Amino acid sequence: HTQGWPLSEGANGGGFLYHQADNQVALGFVTWLNYENPNLSPFEEMQRWKQHPEIRKILEGGKRVSYGARAINDGGFQAVPKLYFPGGALIGCSAGFVNVPRIKGTHTAMKTGMMAAEAAYEAIVAERESDELTAYGTAYENSWVREELRVVRNVLPAVEKYGDFLGTIISGINMWAEHLKIKMPFTMKLHPDWSRLKRAEHCHPIVYPKPDGVISFDRLSSVFLSNTNHEEDQPVHLQLKDPSIPVDVNLPVFAGPSARYCPAGVYEFVEDEAGKPKFQINAQNCVHCKTCDIKDPSQNINWVVPEGGGGPNYPNM
Ligand code: SF4
Repeated sequence: HTQGWPLSEGANGGGFLYHQADNQVALGFVTWLNYENPNLSPFEEMQRWKQHPEIRKILEGGKRVSYGARAINDGGFQAVPKLYFPGGALIGCSAGFVNVPRIKGTHTAMKTGMMAAEAAYEAIVAERESDELTAYGTAYENSWVREELRVVRNVLPAVEKYGDFLGTIISGINMWAEHLKIKMPFTMKLHPDWSRLKRAEHCHPIVYPKPDGVISFDRLSSVFLSNTNHEEDQPVHLQLKDPSIPVDVNLPVFAGPSARYCPAGVYEFVEDEAGKPKFQINAQNCVHCKTCDIKDPSQNINWVVPEGGGGPNYPNM
């Protein structure tokens, strides 16, 4: 696991690399979506990260076999939504139960799945249907999952506010104090990721190196390996609330950040016949990560749940 590099200018995140059977590695790079510079590209940051000598030496001589991307709901304690609705419930990562400093969420996903299943079982036995599983919400409130997230609740906001180095030290002290039963009397606030982007004129341009085709790659050839499919007749799942905002607001103010934050090259600013900028959505490239819904500074993109099973589909997992 790595933290920080190559991210700069207050952006946070880190990488992971796991060895698998048959000489394979699974690796990824997480860029927190609270970054401020609209010129940043999470995809390109990962390409740079792979060029670090310690990562590069593992990948050299290998072959890229798969690609995917997704947003991790890591807001934790302060961001847990209402967990149930008529006929359904949010469990595991869909409700944001990942424990960020432990880089782990499987245990909380399993536990919340079990709690929701118990509440659903009770409802079925009582011949209830399409009502709310309030018992699941109560079980979460009294569970170790909530307590575990409460203990680490200030980690993300501390790193966001004080930066990687100081923020990590403050988070560590906070967590040790909580483990020693010294309760911290404060809960730091989180800010919506879309609200963090600065105007492009106040930010440095970021020049990313060209892919070498060996360790680093371009987005479109990566998307090809994601095994993502869209039925031709499925409803459009990337919708703009106001079609004029990308060109009239996001392009002049934020230099069109969707062209960089999307890890699949779905959004492009091209020229129309009159040479004016035009916003183009290549929806067929989408790998369903949901970043656009979260990071669009105008909150103008409505990501509608696409048909299930469309991918990415990772082999050998
Ligand atoms: S269009 Fe949105 S959901 Fe699809 S890959 Fe791009 S950022 Fe992710």
